[in-house]
Parts: sequence; C-alpha cells; structure tokens
Amino acid sequence: MIYRNIFIVLISTFFLSFADVRAQYVDDNIVVAQEGEGIYEILRRNELEPNVHHSPFILINKEKLKGDTLLLPGSTYLLPEKIFTPIPAKAAPERPKSVINPLFGRNYEKIPIIDNRLEGAVYYLVSGHGGPDPGAMGRYGSYMLSEDEYAYDVTLRLARNLISHGATVYMIIQDNTNGIRDESILKLDRTETTISGQALPLNQKDRLQQRVDEVNKLFYKHQGAYQRLIAIHVDSRSQGQNIDVFFYHHDNSESGRKLAQEIHAVFSSKYDRHQPGRDYHGTVSSRSGLYMIRNTLPPIVYIELGNIKNYRDQLRFVISDNRQALANWIELGITNDFKKASDR
Ligand SMILES: [Zn+2]
Repeated sequence: MIYRNIFIVLISTFFLSFADVRAQYVDDNIVVAQEGEGIYEILRRNELEPNVHHSPFILINKEKLKGDTLLLPGSTYLLPEKIFTPIPAKAAPERPKSVINPLFGRNYEKIPIIDNRLEGAVYYLVSGHGGPDPGAMGRYGSYMLSEDEYAYDVTLRLARNLISHGATVYMIIQDNTNGIRDESILKLDRTETTISGQALPLNQKDRLQQRVDEVNKLFYKHQGAYQRLIAIHVDSRSQGQNIDVFFYHHDNSESGRKLAQEIHAVFSSKYDRHQPGRDYHGTVSSRSGLYMIRNTLPPIVYIELGNIKNYRDQLRFVISDNRQALANWIELGITNDFKKASDR
C-alpha cells in the first residue's frame, strides 16, 4: 500500500512539472531539426546556451527523440524557455569589431579592429609644434604649408593604424577641430591642445616641457609594459634640398635605436620597390641633445618626414595618399620592432 502511494506521488510530480514547462511555449518556439544537427547545435542555432538548456530540451521533446538524445532531421521540436545565466567572471571579453573615436574626424572615427598583434604595446604619439607655433613653413604655389598641420595628420593616421591592431595609443597633441583630412592644403589653425586639454604655451621650452610631462606621467602608469614614444616632425632646409626621412634616437637608448632602425629598414625597402634607382639616404642617428629625446622616459624615435620648403618633398605631404603611406610604413616598422622585442 505504501509503495502504491509513493508511486502515485512520483507520477503526479512528473506530470505537474511537465505541464508547467509545457505551459511556457508559444508557437514560435517550434524548430525543425536540420540534417546532421544535434541537440547542442539546435540550441546554439537558436541562441540558447547548450549546457543550460540541454536537459529542459530533452524533457519537453522526449517522445520525438531517437534513442533519448538524437534528433530526427525534418522533425519539429520545442525550444525550452530561455534561461539567463550570469556570465562567468573569468570569460575573456570579446574583442570589439570596431571602436569609435571622434578625434579621427567624421570619415575616420570608426576604426575597424583588424587583429590584436599590437596588444600590450603602449604608444605615445607626439606631433611637432601646434597651438601658437606652426613649426616650419614652406611656400607651395600661393599657399603656405605649416609643419604642425602635416605632422598632425600623419600622426593621426599612424594612431588609427596602431589602434586597429590592438595597441594602446596616446595622442599627446590633439586637435578636436580636425580629424584625418584628405584635402591637399591643410589649413593652419591654433586649436591644438595636449591630451589632457591644456592649451599649448607660446614659449618653446614651456611647450616642450608640457608634452614631456604629459608623456612621463602616463609612462609611470604603464610601468613594466612595452612603451614607445614617436615624435613626428617636418624639417625646414633650403628650398633646393630634397631630403629623405630621418630618424633620431637617444645615444644611451638601445630600445630607441632598435625602433628607429626597424622603421628605417621599412623605408629603405619601400623606396627600392616604389622608386627603383632612387637611392634612399635617410639615416638613423643619435641626437640626445633634442629636448624631447633628452627628457622623456619611454624609448623614443624622433622622425623628420622631409623638407617642407622643397617642391619634391612637398608632394610627400600635400597628397593625402602619401601621408597615409608614411603612416603605414612607420606602423610597419613599429610592428616589426614590437614583434622582435616580444620574441627576445
Ligand atoms: Zn619641428
């Protein structure tokens, strides 16, 4: 007698819970099993976490399963109600497909994340001059070209490239009024500030010390990481002098020298390919006397992109594709250096 009572209780419990589950369906929870599909696949296909929904699925589809767990292709099955489970804290955050940063301007603010080959690298990008100081100036037809605007555009393009490969990038000098620009003549303005929003002082030493401080402050924050500083300038020499791209580093910095050499190597090989017969005379040398090189903490490469007064060099700047190529080549050298530093 007692056994029969237990049996009845069990049966009714089973039907009760079964009825409860059944009551939760609506018609759009019916799915058709595809050829070769298992319970895990059909759950995944319907955005139900398989581990959590496997048992409920079996429970409500019992009669339609072959050998308790196999789906019959072409048969319809009921999907269990979605159960929300907390995301485990240890799960690696998924890499976004793109990031938005309005600093790069309307046409370039969306940055596709291509891969993570520069993950862990920290870059400080400093474009020369800015604010009240236009830097070197060169006449181009009826226009005046100013160093700070062209250095800034190349630096922005470089920053965007580096971000798209997962690097941490600090644009130490910023201009909220200009993103990446594709026009030839980049209008001179004075709207540049530092990364923390400070106006740039007119006095040269104050101006340099200000960006040194911005970099060094961040450097301590990232202590232990691979950190590099890239300063980008345009030179001014006599009008007739067509020059190449030059790279300077600190005499005592082995890491700075290596970075400079890696970028230099890319420029040498690109010149061979794109301008065969034209020798590349750009060099890597130490210039520890330069204020930025002497006073900043991360290994630094200081780049002079050409002579703003020379007509041939000006074509390197006024054609936006050339500015992008400069950024791409610098990026390639930077990437080679990070890879080698990681392998060491
Ligand atoms: Zn300069």
